[in-house]
Amino acid sequence: MSSTDTTQGTALVTGASSGIGALYAERLARRGHDLILVARDMAKLTALAERIRSTTHRQVELLPADLTAKADLLRIEKRLQSDPSISLLVNNAGVGATSTLVESDVDSLDKMIQLNVTALTRLARAVVPGMVARGKGAVINIASIVALAPDVLNGTYSGSKAFVLAFTQSMHHELAAKGIQVQAVLPGATSTDFWSTAGVPVSHLPSEIVMKAEEMVDAALVGFDRKELVTIPSLPDAADWDRFDAARKALGPNLSRATAAARYTA
Ligand code: NAP
Repeated sequence: MSSTDTTQGTALVTGASSGIGALYAERLARRGHDLILVARDMAKLTALAERIRSTTHRQVELLPADLTAKADLLRIEKRLQSDPSISLLVNNAGVGATSTLVESDVDSLDKMIQLNVTALTRLARAVVPGMVARGKGAVINIASIVALAPDVLNGTYSGSKAFVLAFTQSMHHELAAKGIQVQAVLPGATSTDFWSTAGVPVSHLPSEIVMKAEEMVDAALVGFDRKELVTIPSLPDAADWDRFDAARKALGPNLSRATAAARYTA
């Protein structure tokens, strides 16, 4: 789907003040969505909204919120529950870390879980019942390739993104038949402020593993239009994911049985 004049409904994008979220906002407006943009930095949101309004003439509303603050989170949940124009939630806000568990500040890890896991879950839970009642809607959850590679970065971050992947797979299982499309996007290293916020500027990474944010978001939207449940923009051969997922599903019938496996019994 390319740019269009007819409205696609409203997309609520979290973490829209920079990086991947700002690009989703811009691309979705071009595709005909009105926007509700959520993040803490009102100055950045305002500048982005002005740019989007002038280039696309779409409605852009700003809802400044710290999604780790309960009152702010509840305010965004209420909006998701009560606004039937919302056809798409992009659960993008997230932070990472590069420190080891032993070196990490536990309150920072706790905040990361609040943002990457708790807020993402509560926002999805807020929007989905209305979508089910309307028989349509979509949720894009931004995970990460570390969902599949927990030995690469900070383990709490990897765990939070493994949650996002599993949660999205479960949402699909529950909601696909009700007309709701869900997608987990698993970016590899992407050129945004994420890395400097997490403690390592992106310039310190080997350039051959870093994708431009524009390319990542555009690829993810191609996956969305193809109704992919899991999109890994940098994976050259989609069959590699299919085999991985098939191996996981093949375990299924043997994961819960009345008896322990023979290797554990004398
Ligand atoms: P980014 O440029 O740092 O953007 C993060 C966004 O989250 C910002 O808009 C930030 O806005 C918002 N945010 C942070 N804390 C928040 C809070 N407490 N409440 C509300 N909003 C908050 O990084 P990015 O790369 O675009 O990250 C977007 C998503 O992509 C994240 O979920 C990240 O885990 C994921 N991801 C990134 C990479 C990568 O290499 N860049 C790879 C895989 C996955 P404010 O500061 O204005 O609140």
